[in-house]
Amino acid sequence: MTRVFNFSAGPSTLPEEVLHLAAEEMMDHRGSGMSVMEMSHRSKMFTDILEATERRLRDLMSIPSHYRVLFLQGGAFTQFAMVPLNLFRKSHRAGFLHTGSWSKKAIAEARKYGETQILASSEDTGFTTLPPCEPSRVDPDLDYVHITTNNTIFGTCYDPKLAPPPRFEAIPLVADMSSNILAQRYRVEDFGLIYAGAQKNAGMAGMTIVIIREDLIGHAGPKVPAMLDYQTHAKANSCHNTPPCYAIYIAGLVFDWVLRQGGIEAMEARNRHKAALLYDFLDGSDLFRATVAPPARSLMNIPFLLPGDDLDQAFLAEAESQGLVNLKGHRSVGGMRASLYNAMPMAGVEKLVEVMADFERRHG
Ligand SMILES: *Cc1c(COP(=O)(O)O)cnc(C)c1O
Repeated sequence: MTRVFNFSAGPSTLPEEVLHLAAEEMMDHRGSGMSVMEMSHRSKMFTDILEATERRLRDLMSIPSHYRVLFLQGGAFTQFAMVPLNLFRKSHRAGFLHTGSWSKKAIAEARKYGETQILASSEDTGFTTLPPCEPSRVDPDLDYVHITTNNTIFGTCYDPKLAPPPRFEAIPLVADMSSNILAQRYRVEDFGLIYAGAQKNAGMAGMTIVIIREDLIGHAGPKVPAMLDYQTHAKANSCHNTPPCYAIYIAGLVFDWVLRQGGIEAMEARNRHKAALLYDFLDGSDLFRATVAPPARSLMNIPFLLPGDDLDQAFLAEAESQGLVNLKGHRSVGGMRASLYNAMPMAGVEKLVEVMADFERRHG
């Protein structure tokens, strides 16, 4: 068996312990004689898995009791529509911090159901910065403000320590946290709603985490499909219909792994260390360069460039021959992108920097 260091932006690398445990429990989950995939979602055994998964997430993120945790399907893309369908409840106006491709998609969906206001945009810098935003100038009647905490494609982040998200007093802040949930410590109380696809830091594709303040549930209009109404899922504890059972189970294993690593603080410290190793190399290099400047830098997704497409191809091929895969940059940025999610070990980043340094010695 050969494992590679997988720098994919998502779906992405998982902790090996989780994969081993899932493999071990595949044929016979704890004496049930079946895998979690084969169980009734109404069975006691699956209900226990679901409850443990929620409990671990609440524990990790210190989620207060007046927030509900939902495990849904449809990915962050479904949340782009579900958020306006449920949160447009008074003015039918929402504000957006436009920081890249994901916010653009969230805006496009919300616009179908109400008015969207771009409160700040970093489009003029090619989304390589975080745009300044003055919350005191914002329309106080907005139904919500939407932010993408970590911009997976462009590599910027509202880092809770270095560049915290703006605060909008009484307006609920909605966060797409798909690519840095559980990687950095945000205060759940600062948000009305947090959503995240699981396939980056919380397990496998097929499950979407929604953390929603209770007072924001129950406002969907009569024409909103039941499946797109948060109340449906809150009332049924995420079991209105068949939930993404196996993805919930895997997320539970990942949450348990994060807890055993020391929780979000320990992950964050490790993530800062990993990212610093790569950024320090990039900042000192005469050949490679980072596309984003501090303090807007993401710890999770680090785009970087070489001067010329030929060098990109040569580097990507060399990296792959060394077992470093999925480093090709997103087509809208080009070059390379290293995604250093929680499950990427330090050894993977050390190896990457070693291969980059060696490449620079021969091509610099
Ligand atoms: C990956 C990603 C998405 C897309 O999520 P899906 O699960 O494919 O719907 C949306 N937003 C952000 C910030 C992402 O990183």
